[in-house]
Amino acid sequence: MREKDWNVKLRQGCRNLIEGLVALLYPSGLSCPLCRREEPVEGLLCGACQLRLEVWREEPRCRCCGRPGPGEGKLCRDCRESTPPFRLARAAAPYDGPFRQAVHRLKFQGELWLAEPLGLLMAETVSGEAGYGGTELVVPVPLHPGKLKARGYNQSSLLGEVLSRKLLLPLGDRLLVKERETRDQTGLTRKERWENLKGAFRVDKPQQVRGKSVLLVDDILTTGSTVTHCAGTLLAAGAAEVTVITWAVGSNR
Ligand SMILES: [Zn+2]
Ligand SMILES: [Zn+2]
Repeated sequence: MREKDWNVKLRQGCRNLIEGLVALLYPSGLSCPLCRREEPVEGLLCGACQLRLEVWREEPRCRCCGRPGPGEGKLCRDCRESTPPFRLARAAAPYDGPFRQAVHRLKFQGELWLAEPLGLLMAETVSGEAGYGGTELVVPVPLHPGKLKARGYNQSSLLGEVLSRKLLLPLGDRLLVKERETRDQTGLTRKERWENLKGAFRVDKPQQVRGKSVLLVDDILTTGSTVTHCAGTLLAAGAAEVTVITWAVGSNR
């Protein structure tokens, strides 16, 4: 075989290898990980999803919990009525359309690979917000061991791993433990959600959170009752402060 043929073969081989790796990371190949539209994706998302995110990011939101609604720099009604235990919460995306579907695919349809692009966008959100400065430890919201066994993975831990890697912060997986199985929160009122989660979490090794600025990671923030309970538990165990990052955020009601 001539040298030229070898070069062609070598180049083809390299291309196959790269395409194989890309397909492994993003099984849909050249399609958007969120809406799955097939088009060459520049960066992480397709143009339409990227634009939707950019427009959404410009919307005014509560300066504490990050839910859309109040004027820029103001607090939403919930945060005014009762100050959350976390200092700041932000999300990478709104809880609707392809952003909502993506987290459902990660959570319920076993599409674990989605943790990578979703986690990357969450890491970008954290890096772009000065309020997260000084974070020392990444702690995912845990699942009850029974649920973890049934599902096989904790989607918040997968997101936490990506955040820990991208932000160069230690991951405190399993530091926060859910010791009581709780009812599915869907369909419960705010008050019922609160009662449902009371005393459900515990910190396993308090010495590892003591005095630390903790970044709590969850997939979705809707009423905020889960992160509120988790943040309260971390503070009670001695954490200096808690901030929250989720993939998506819903509106207050
Ligand atoms: Zn898209
Ligand atoms: Zn708020």
